[in-house]
Amino acid sequence: MPRDTSPSPGSQSSLREANRSRIVAAVKRFGGLTQVELAAATGLSTATVSTIVKELASAGVVETQTTSRSGRRALRVTIARQAGLVAGVHIGPRAMAVALGDLAHEVVVEQSLPLPADHRADTTLDRVALLIVDLLERVGVDLDGLLSVGVAMAAPVEPGTGLIAVRGPLRSWADVPVAQVLTKRLARPVHVDSDAGLGAVAEHGLGAGRDVQDILYVRLSYGTSAGVILGGRLHRGGSGAAGEIGHVQVSPAGPVCLCGNRGCLDTEVGESALLEIVRPALGEVTLRDVVRRAQQGDPGCTRVLTDAARRAGQVVAGVVTVLDPQRVVVGGELAQAGPGVVEALRESVHRHALPHRFAPVDVVAGELGPRAELLGALELARKETDVEGVAR
Ligand SMILES: [Zn+2]
Repeated sequence: MPRDTSPSPGSQSSLREANRSRIVAAVKRFGGLTQVELAAATGLSTATVSTIVKELASAGVVETQTTSRSGRRALRVTIARQAGLVAGVHIGPRAMAVALGDLAHEVVVEQSLPLPADHRADTTLDRVALLIVDLLERVGVDLDGLLSVGVAMAAPVEPGTGLIAVRGPLRSWADVPVAQVLTKRLARPVHVDSDAGLGAVAEHGLGAGRDVQDILYVRLSYGTSAGVILGGRLHRGGSGAAGEIGHVQVSPAGPVCLCGNRGCLDTEVGESALLEIVRPALGEVTLRDVVRRAQQGDPGCTRVLTDAARRAGQVVAGVVTVLDPQRVVVGGELAQAGPGVVEALRESVHRHALPHRFAPVDVVAGELGPRAELLGALELARKETDVEGVAR
């Protein structure tokens, strides 16, 4: 289990407060832990954990229930449900999804909706706000019971301004302060990050990367991007654009990319490039159609997607050589087309990355499928929620 990486327990005066925070942070991170697991995750003694859990339970911050682990009775600690719900939102070029979750990492309700191509930021954010209110009503919770909102955008987000850092498929969103706009509509704190980064957070915390500390989450979608987890933490970079592998130049004289540069990877494996390749055979179809046809065994669509994964793999191989992650986890719509896509990416990474004397890097399909980014958005909302503040 990854250890809590917050500072070591400090000296006398703040010790108790710091230990409380460490325990609450660990419960929030893992959803539910036994007291023994909490001690392992925080580095505190089981006696200290037991004392603090009692305090937190009587303050209504956490709940405890008796369970059995390996045949022994254990006390499982979760964040108290009456503490409220958080919302996660994923906004992509052609779909959006909203989920409500509790602080114990349970998804309470979720819904996704298709979006028109080139959807406008203001109307989509209106729909997001309405859908959140609608889902709250459906589970019988009023707006006061919503603690915070996490939003995963299909674009890198600059941490300082919360604006999209690189121009891309979400054309009308470039200058929209998403967090401020949604905060105004919902009167709740809203936090925004890139979907690749949040997909990485989710796969690291709950999915295919949960047993390692350094992962590269590759998202093969309408554009290609990656989330970088180093030492158990999301690495955003100076401008929030770390992992933007879709904009690595692969062909200096190639077509102009949406970002303004020439010959980026996305000009070869992004949505419009892939649709251009299938157009002579299939006419006007969407990327969703191509993925669906590949799932049904269509050889042409399968070939286009596996070739795209192979090409992306060359760029991923460069990142693997530089960062040396313990695992590459593959997600995004293209990875849903079938095992061939992940296989093609794996082969390509192994062929082009620095040959390792012992074993090539592990390249696996994500375990959370198309929900990784939405679950990551819920994680973002939970992480930003002051649970102790809520209970006071
Ligand atoms: Zn570009």
